[in-house]
Amino acid sequence: MRLPPDNSLAIPMIRRAVELGINYFETSTSYCQNRSEIQVGLGLKGHRDDVYISTKSHVNKKGQMSFAGMVERDSTGEDFKNILEESFHKLGTDHVDFYQFHGLTYENLPIAMAEGGPLDALKDAKDHGQIGHIGFTSHDTTENLIKMLDTGEFESMTVYHNILQTGGHRLHENVLPAIEHARKMGVGVIIMGPLGGGILGIPIEELHKIIPGTSSQVELAFKYLLSNPGITTPISGMTRMSDVEENAKVASEYKPLSAKEMTQVKKFISKYFSLMERFCTGCSYCQPCPQGVRIPEIFRFMNISNIYGVKTWAKEQYARMRARGPFGRGSADLCIQCGECEKKCPQKLSIRDELKKAHTLLTSS
Ligand code: SF4
Ligand code: SF4
Repeated sequence: MRLPPDNSLAIPMIRRAVELGINYFETSTSYCQNRSEIQVGLGLKGHRDDVYISTKSHVNKKGQMSFAGMVERDSTGEDFKNILEESFHKLGTDHVDFYQFHGLTYENLPIAMAEGGPLDALKDAKDHGQIGHIGFTSHDTTENLIKMLDTGEFESMTVYHNILQTGGHRLHENVLPAIEHARKMGVGVIIMGPLGGGILGIPIEELHKIIPGTSSQVELAFKYLLSNPGITTPISGMTRMSDVEENAKVASEYKPLSAKEMTQVKKFISKYFSLMERFCTGCSYCQPCPQGVRIPEIFRFMNISNIYGVKTWAKEQYARMRARGPFGRGSADLCIQCGECEKKCPQKLSIRDELKKAHTLLTSS
């Protein structure tokens, strides 16, 4: 849930969600300017045994940038013990059902798995009944997700996936093989971004047409995910009471897509996927840019605006990117035209020119 800051709005949303049968609540030490765990704790007061609570925090690597600035040292087991205690305090509980490494990368896995490190701290907490299951959330490549699963250390995996196959940090990553791999291993799969970061709340004519019997795109988006036997549950960043009502209704009334419907959906996906790939494939080979320009993300906004016609959404995302701090900003106007990115682009894109076009498109009124 992307809870509103005002507790008088947030807490009734959580209580209504419980009433409607929603029983998996995903939070994090850092969500909603660090207030999410407190709000979830308040909202679930009196319902602790009726729900599953999942929280998480990052494994940091010395020298990497985080939202708190430059990381000064690798995360340790002691850090995780302290973070866990703080989470229990904020959530008003003495145990969580799931604890996940937040945004784990294969690169940072050795830090997580170091002897006496974060994973050992979580395992110790699990042995003491403070954690039910240990997992990870990740935006890494499918190949790396599978390698992380193959350590055999994780019981849940949270990844970005939706019917548009877009909206995540990694534009065109097809995570379906990782989901299937997890299913075979008996690992629970939780899907973030089921509505593509809000794109699916905006009518997309072609998508709306493909399943005539489906009343809304949101319904179709959830049906697509829930029809996959490898997916345990989607999590939706609900911001309003009406989102809670709509999502719960869709989930309680849902019927899986028939084989014919799934074929239509797959046709839609492959058509739009290939349109997207004709331009920037989102491979990220052009990264990092010395100026921090987030080229794949900017081209994703441009693609989505042009291909799906969701112009307002794309502009809002770009404006949000520009409004972030120096670490997260990365908008096209930071480009100093050095040309380094173009030497690395397998698509041979004129990145500098395209960035100018994207900036104009995404900032036009
Ligand atoms: S040309 Fe611009 S976007 Fe490309 S690497 Fe240089 S500063 Fe970054
Ligand atoms: S290297 Fe080229 S294709 Fe790959 S993300 Fe960058 S701009 Fe897109």
